Amino acid sequence: MSEIIEYDGEIWQVDLFERGIPGRTAGYFIKGEDNSWMLIETGPASSLEIIFDAAKELNISYDNLKHIAVTHIHIDHAGGLGLLASYFKNAQMWVHEKGKKHMIDPSRLIEGAKAVHGLEKFNQYGDVLPVPEERINILNEGTKISLGGRILEVWEMPGHAKHHVCFFDHKTKGLFSGDAVGLYAPVLTKKLNHPVMRPATPGPDFNGELMKQDLYRLAQSDIRRIHFSHFGTSISPQIVIDIITGKLWFCLETAKKYLSEEYPFNKIQKELKERSEKELFPYLTDLDINCEVVEAELELIMDYRNTINGILNYLNYNAK
Ligand SMILES: [Zn+2]
Repeated sequence: MSEIIEYDGEIWQVDLFERGIPGRTAGYFIKGEDNSWMLIETGPASSLEIIFDAAKELNISYDNLKHIAVTHIHIDHAGGLGLLASYFKNAQMWVHEKGKKHMIDPSRLIEGAKAVHGLEKFNQYGDVLPVPEERINILNEGTKISLGGRILEVWEMPGHAKHHVCFFDHKTKGLFSGDAVGLYAPVLTKKLNHPVMRPATPGPDFNGELMKQDLYRLAQSDIRRIHFSHFGTSISPQIVIDIITGKLWFCLETAKKYLSEEYPFNKIQKELKERSEKELFPYLTDLDINCEVVEAELELIMDYRNTINGILNYLNYNAK
């Protein structure tokens, strides 16, 4: 039994229980006009069984899953792509042009993931298998994937990583945002009555200027909903974009302030953590904090390690 939420417009969100954690990473099944299906995000290979269960529950046959696409090739989003390719033989696998070679030969992806996540966490993601080259289709700005006439259009969003895209669904005007609009905590958002978020700025791929441009482009667009890969859906896209833009700005300014000092990481972390605590803790009871999903969301929202590493890497690189 998997945890599935249905949204208007024949979209189903599946909790991929990344490394066993609830509410961390989502995959989205989208139904076309001709009973063809698309999956956006595979999650890591260790989420495979959940995808099988969800496909069964939604009555998606092996033949009808026609497209499997990832917003980018980080292993929490795309680690399972090679494994899924071997089961869903009829599906076209979609990745951005700049990620293609790393899905055909994932050795550098694996190396990078070990460095970013550490060996223990990396092992919980499961094996990253190569995707056969002939199964890969290329995504670029403007690429349109058609599900019997239902169009998913690709928007390149290179701020999080140069191989990152979002998918815009013409039918619902919904955006499958990957990590471009940061990380979203739906349960905390409901409890606090405002969007609870953190920018997703991992090293070594994050580019601050490009992420600002991505967010500006989205702010000008006509999107009506955002489906986050981490995690859940917001029906207030403009508010969410404003909040994440503000948080990104605050993280960048804080990092800049300490850049020339000793132990900048610790100083930046202290300031960002304190700010999050002020935002969240006065409004949460012990009962809230001891709930498994809230605990998982707090861990995600308060974990600034990758955020800071990515920003420092970006600022140092630009200072050269
Ligand atoms: Zn990512």
